[in-house]
Amino acid sequence: MIVCRKCGFHNADSDDFCGSCGSFLEFTGEKVAVKVPEGFAAQAEQEAAVVADRRRAFETALAGTLPGGQLTILAGYTPMLELRALMHERGWVGRLREA
Ligand SMILES: [Zn+2]
Repeated sequence: MIVCRKCGFHNADSDDFCGSCGSFLEFTGEKVAVKVPEGFAAQAEQEAAVVADRRRAFETALAGTLPGGQLTILAGYTPMLELRALMHERGWVGRLREA
Protein backbone atom coordinates (compact mmCIF):
# COMPACT_ATOMS: atom_id res chain seq x y z
CA MET A 1 0.00 0.00 0.00
CA ILE A 2 1.20 3.53 -0.76
CA VAL A 3 0.00 6.25 1.59
CA CYS A 4 -0.12 9.73 0.08
CA ARG A 5 1.78 12.12 2.33
CA LYS A 6 -0.17 15.03 0.89
CA CYS A 7 -3.70 13.82 1.68
CA GLY A 8 -3.32 10.52 3.55
CA PHE A 9 -5.20 8.46 0.96
CA HIS A 10 -4.34 4.75 0.81
CA ASN A 11 -3.35 3.76 -2.72
CA ALA A 12 -2.53 0.38 -4.22
CA ASP A 13 1.10 -0.60 -4.73
CA SER A 14 0.54 -0.42 -8.49
CA ASP A 15 -0.80 3.16 -8.47
CA ASP A 16 1.33 5.95 -9.95
CA PHE A 17 -0.98 8.79 -8.94
CA CYS A 18 -2.98 9.34 -5.75
CA GLY A 19 -6.60 8.23 -6.19
CA SER A 20 -7.76 11.16 -4.07
CA CYS A 21 -5.64 14.25 -4.78
CA GLY A 22 -3.91 13.16 -7.98
CA SER A 23 -0.36 13.72 -6.68
CA PHE A 24 2.46 11.79 -8.30
CA LEU A 25 3.10 9.09 -5.71
CA GLU A 26 6.76 8.78 -6.60
CA PHE A 27 7.14 12.19 -4.92
CA THR A 28 4.35 12.20 -2.34
CA GLY A 29 3.82 8.51 -1.61
CA GLU A 30 5.17 6.42 1.23
CA LYS A 31 5.13 2.67 0.75
CA VAL A 32 3.69 0.92 3.79
CA ALA A 33 3.66 -2.82 4.37
CA VAL A 34 0.17 -4.00 5.30
CA LYS A 35 0.31 -6.34 8.26
CA VAL A 36 -2.33 -9.06 8.11
CA PRO A 37 -2.92 -10.65 11.52
CA GLU A 38 -1.90 -14.28 11.67
CA GLY A 39 -4.72 -16.60 10.69
CA PHE A 40 -6.84 -13.74 9.35
CA ALA A 41 -6.81 -14.87 5.73
CA ALA A 42 -7.66 -18.45 6.67
CA GLN A 43 -10.47 -17.31 8.96
CA ALA A 44 -11.85 -14.89 6.37
CA GLU A 45 -11.87 -17.61 3.73
CA GLN A 46 -13.66 -19.94 6.14
CA GLU A 47 -16.26 -17.29 6.93
CA ALA A 48 -16.79 -16.20 3.34
CA ALA A 49 -20.13 -17.22 1.92
CA VAL A 50 -22.23 -16.49 -1.13
CA VAL A 51 -25.67 -15.17 -0.19
CA ALA A 52 -27.91 -14.93 -3.24
CA ASP A 53 -30.64 -12.82 -1.69
CA ARG A 54 -29.29 -9.26 -1.55
CA ARG A 55 -31.41 -8.18 1.42
CA ARG A 56 -30.18 -11.16 3.43
CA ALA A 57 -26.60 -10.56 2.24
CA PHE A 58 -26.87 -6.95 3.42
CA GLU A 59 -28.25 -7.99 6.83
CA THR A 60 -25.58 -10.70 7.19
CA ALA A 61 -22.79 -8.28 6.29
CA LEU A 62 -24.13 -5.67 8.72
CA ALA A 63 -24.38 -8.26 11.50
CA GLY A 64 -20.74 -9.16 10.90
CA THR A 65 -19.54 -5.56 11.05
CA LEU A 66 -18.23 -4.41 14.41
CA PRO A 67 -19.78 -1.28 15.96
CA GLY A 68 -17.94 1.72 14.56
CA GLY A 69 -16.47 -0.51 11.87
CA GLN A 70 -16.68 -0.02 8.14
CA LEU A 71 -18.60 -2.16 5.69
CA THR A 72 -17.52 -1.85 2.08
CA ILE A 73 -19.90 -3.09 -0.59
CA LEU A 74 -18.88 -3.39 -4.21
CA ALA A 75 -22.08 -3.45 -6.22
CA GLY A 76 -23.13 -3.05 -9.80
CA TYR A 77 -25.75 -0.46 -10.69
CA THR A 78 -28.93 -2.49 -10.07
CA PRO A 79 -27.74 -4.06 -6.77
CA MET A 80 -26.56 -0.60 -5.72
CA LEU A 81 -30.10 0.73 -6.26
CA GLU A 82 -31.49 -2.13 -4.15
CA LEU A 83 -28.96 -1.45 -1.39
CA ARG A 84 -29.78 2.24 -1.56
CA ALA A 85 -33.48 1.36 -1.10
CA LEU A 86 -32.62 -0.81 1.93
CA MET A 87 -30.60 2.02 3.43
CA HIS A 88 -33.46 4.43 2.68
CA GLU A 89 -35.84 2.09 4.56
CA ARG A 90 -33.61 2.51 7.60
CA GLY A 91 -33.56 6.26 7.23
CA TRP A 92 -29.81 6.36 6.57
CA VAL A 93 -30.02 8.03 3.19
CA GLY A 94 -32.51 10.05 1.23
CA ARG A 95 -34.18 8.88 -1.93
CA LEU A 96 -31.89 8.55 -4.93
CA ARG A 97 -32.97 10.99 -7.57
CA GLU A 98 -33.16 9.57 -11.04
CA ALA A 99 -33.60 11.59 -14.18
ZN1 LIG B 1 -3.17 12.26 -2.15
